Amino acid sequence: MDMDTSAFQAWVREAARLITEQAGRLTDLDAAIGDGDHGINLRRGFQAADEMLDKSEAETPGAVLQTVGRALISKTGGASGPLYGTGFRQAGKALADVTEVDAARLGAALEAAFKGIQQLGAAREGDKTLLDALGPAVTAYQVAVEGGADIPAATRAAADAAERGLAETVPMLARKGRASYLGERTIGHEDPGAASTTLILRALATVAAGEAP
Ligand code: ADP
Ligand code: MG
Repeated sequence: MDMDTSAFQAWVREAARLITEQAGRLTDLDAAIGDGDHGINLRRGFQAADEMLDKSEAETPGAVLQTVGRALISKTGGASGPLYGTGFRQAGKALADVTEVDAARLGAALEAAFKGIQQLGAAREGDKTLLDALGPAVTAYQVAVEGGADIPAATRAAADAAERGLAETVPMLARKGRASYLGERTIGHEDPGAASTTLILRALATVAAGEAP
């Protein structure tokens, strides 16, 4: 099953719902190793994205993702707003004007998001950032598709890999963003951005499986 424009809108809506539901947890994670605003930032950004989508007439999956990117850049505070905004915009660009996104193209979009975020933030995997969830997710997605998986199976593999990546951020020392100021004290905590990336990818898998509420 390919993903059309309404499936991408459903993804954004489900991501906004999950982030709103778990904003407190994201903020608690950020309170431990940053400034305690990650949940607030992302909830504001995703709610704005959701509203902007209602008003805009995004007619293609790519236009949906570009609209989300613009909303996140303009409404999310913190370092994560421009990073996620760039990720969604690059993913939207990779979809060009296709109306039905197949598994391979969705993989290219996820990879474009990763590259855009990496270029903007200059972090590497292992620096304890959202890339430590997104990187393994993109790889797992592509491996699944190469093995013949469809979008529901490949997005589930991606979300599962993101969750493992999130767990792997616990022993890491933060080298980027605000958390890096805390040095050794960041060891022993999950990275908040890796946690929100996991939610966004779980939302994608839920929608792809046709299980969104
Ligand atoms: P701020 O740090 O400005 O308060 P947020 O709290 O919203 O912003 O987001 C913090 C998250 O952003 C971190 O947990 C990390 O995952 C992510 N992040 C910060 N800097 C970078 C970077 N250079 N590259 C990738 N992700 C980053
Ligand atoms: Mg913060």
